[in-house]
Amino acid sequence: MSNLKSAKPGTPVILGVPFDANSSWLRGAAGAPPIIRVAFGSDSSNPCTETGVDLSAEGVYCDAGDLKFTFQEPFAAIEAKVGELLEHDLRPICLGGDHSITLPIVRAFGQHIPDLTILHFDAHPDLYDELEGNRHSHACPFARIMEAGAAKRLIQVGIRTMNAHQRQQAKKFGVEVIEMRYLPALDRMKVEGPIYISFDMDALDPAFAPGISHREPGGMSVREAISHIHAITGRIAGADIVEFNPAQDSTQITATVAAKLLKEILGKMIGG
Ligand code: MN
Ligand code: MN
Repeated sequence: MSNLKSAKPGTPVILGVPFDANSSWLRGAAGAPPIIRVAFGSDSSNPCTETGVDLSAEGVYCDAGDLKFTFQEPFAAIEAKVGELLEHDLRPICLGGDHSITLPIVRAFGQHIPDLTILHFDAHPDLYDELEGNRHSHACPFARIMEAGAAKRLIQVGIRTMNAHQRQQAKKFGVEVIEMRYLPALDRMKVEGPIYISFDMDALDPAFAPGISHREPGGMSVREAISHIHAITGRIAGADIVEFNPAQDSTQITATVAAKLLKEILGKMIGG
């Protein structure tokens, strides 16, 4: 790990975003960042990724701590902080929080990286125009992102809750949806240009990761998720891991899984 101030350009930076006010069902995801960090730093495993990157090496990544919400409107605060990291040519990897945080994060990316491809792992397409009157619900971020033109391509992986409205939205925005029933799709992870990974923990089967707010059976195994992450070819400009809900994680296994994904995503960012 290195100090944020002395970080070299391109260094991945962990940023906790403890925000879950746009959750439509259960709250709790705001408590995730410190718990993922504990699992990430646990001596139960060594600091090497499966791809051979030693995360204990000096300066390979840094940690900006958790975002503090004070006087600013939360989305403005998230966008400003992520923008500041991008300004310094760093690569933010945000720990949510509910999935609504991806909108302000990607808005900041859109200001700096015009040709971004989002690889979005999720049980849900999160393309609702609005949910229960909330256009910023965690069920809506990708509708807002595509409307704003903040990303060039959106590729969704693991989807298994498509309804007619969201199918229509996907068509309208040109979203490339890889439904769960068609996985594996390792070749589809070969993407040109800068990539942003948005990983909703409920993409995984709840048997592997029960600590989430919306348990949707029939999802990815941890192995399948890691294989898809390892298959990515382009440069990863940033990422988020969202929707881990510690209140639902009685065995703490989901924290360990989130930490493992963080490790493998960092490994891909650092090692290529
Ligand atoms: Mn989601
Ligand atoms: Mn989801």
